[in-house]
Amino acid sequence: MSLSLQQRAAAAIGLFGGTFDPVHFGHLRAALEAREQLGLTTLRLLPAGDPPHRTDTVATAAQRLAMLELAIAPCAGLQVDDRELRRAGPSFMVDTLGEIRREAASAPVLLLIGQDAANTLDSWYRWRDLFSLAHIVVMRRPDAHFHCAGEQLQEVQRRRVSEPDDLLQSPAGRILPLEVTQLDISSTLIRRLLAEGLSPQFLLPDRVLEFIRQQRLYGAS
Ligand code: ATP
Repeated sequence: MSLSLQQRAAAAIGLFGGTFDPVHFGHLRAALEAREQLGLTTLRLLPAGDPPHRTDTVATAAQRLAMLELAIAPCAGLQVDDRELRRAGPSFMVDTLGEIRREAASAPVLLLIGQDAANTLDSWYRWRDLFSLAHIVVMRRPDAHFHCAGEQLQEVQRRRVSEPDDLLQSPAGRILPLEVTQLDISSTLIRRLLAEGLSPQFLLPDRVLEFIRQQRLYGAS
């Protein structure tokens, strides 16, 4: 018996990966809107343990996890998946998705990323293998225009779909661009404001800012 679209959406697994150093309203609003537009029961925020493409994380993995947990506590539809923090060595997305694919069996797995991250997808370890493990949802982000070339452009053209329901027809392999409210907020901006003695209030949840101040993170006093 074939499953209805609603049943497929309920079984689908949504993941939003990032460094979250710190998490902010740009992440949280995009996550909430994406979850609703895609019809997902829950969306998992997936903090990168030891990001292979970044050498400049400031907060520890445990601090980034604590901030994420504080941030999503008021929102029932968001969860944290801390598997990359529990795994030793570099966090390659392809390994994480391989693990999740085994757990999901044939359910759709949706990996959400911002346009800036999508533009450099071909620099990710074994990036072509990602398409056999998950669909990729690319959320628009201020100042990050679609920009890719060569083989990556061919993949995007071949795999692009326009409706969330198109992702529910198969377990993996499609790319969906998604409109979300454009909030020009980045973790870099928040770290810079704090280092300069300025307040980032209203760019991130108050409880995360309190944690940052308690822990004296990012030069906060
Ligand atoms: P940094 O400034 O340290 O690079 P960041 O704000 O870009 O951090 P990340 O944790 O690196 O945040 O991003 C995780 C994911 O969230 C990426 O896919 C990124 O594109 C996306 N993202 C971050 N900020 C926004 C935003 N304001 N709107 C939409 N997507 C965002």
